[in-house]
Amino acid sequence: MSDQRLAPLILVVEDDPAIASLVSTALETRGWGHAVAQTGAAAIACAAERSPSVILLDLGLPDMDGIEVVRRVRTWSETPIIVVSARGEDADKIGALDAGADDYLVKPFSVGELLARVRVALRRVAQEPAGAAEGAAFENGALSIDYASGIVRLSGEEVHLTPIEHRLLALLARNEGKVLTHQYLLEHAWGEGQVGDLASLRVIMASLRKKVGAGLIQTHVGVGYRMVQAE
Ligand code: CA
Repeated sequence: MSDQRLAPLILVVEDDPAIASLVSTALETRGWGHAVAQTGAAAIACAAERSPSVILLDLGLPDMDGIEVVRRVRTWSETPIIVVSARGEDADKIGALDAGADDYLVKPFSVGELLARVRVALRRVAQEPAGAAEGAAFENGALSIDYASGIVRLSGEEVHLTPIEHRLLALLARNEGKVLTHQYLLEHAWGEGQVGDLASLRVIMASLRKKVGAGLIQTHVGVGYRMVQAE
C-alpha cells in the first residue's frame, strides 16, 4: 500500500528501454520513486500491488493496447493516468481519455514538460481525497461555483451563464486538471437523451471562456478541453 510519508511512486509503463531510462532518471532527480513495466500485463499487476501515485502510460505496448490498460485499471483505481503517445495516434489518445486517462503527452516530449504534468497530477491527488470533487462549492483563482444555488462568480461578481454553459463549466470544474474529450462533453452536457454537435460545442465553449476567463480553460485542438489551476 502507498504511504503518504514516503516519496510518491510513479509507474512508468514503457517498452522502449531508452525512453524508460530517460524518464526514470528525470523522476529520480525530483526525488520521486519509480517502477518500470514493459508490458500491459506487468503494468496492471504493478498498479494493483504497489498503488502508484501516478501512472505514465505508453499506448504502444507489446502485449496489449494501452487503452486496455486504462480500462482495466479504472475498474478499481482512480490513480491519475498520463498517456504518452507518438504523433499521429490522435484517435488512440482520444480513446485513452474516453477510457478514463487524465492527460496526455505527445512524443517526443521534453523532460521539463513531463515533470510539470506529473507535478500537476500529484498535486491533485494530494488535494482531493476521494469524493472531494463532489463537494458543494468549487474555487479556482477568481472563479467560484456554488453547486447548490448554481451561482457562478468571478472575483465576487455573479457571472450569468446559459444552462448549457453552466453544465459544461461544472463538468470541467469537477474534473479539474483532466482533459475532457469533445465526445465526453457532448454526451454529458446536453442531457435528456440529447447529444450536441461539435460546431455548437465550439461556439458555446468560446462564449464560456470569454465569461470565466480564457486562461482557466485550455483548448486541446482536435481533442477537447481542460480546466487548469489558476496561477
Ligand atoms: Ca511503445
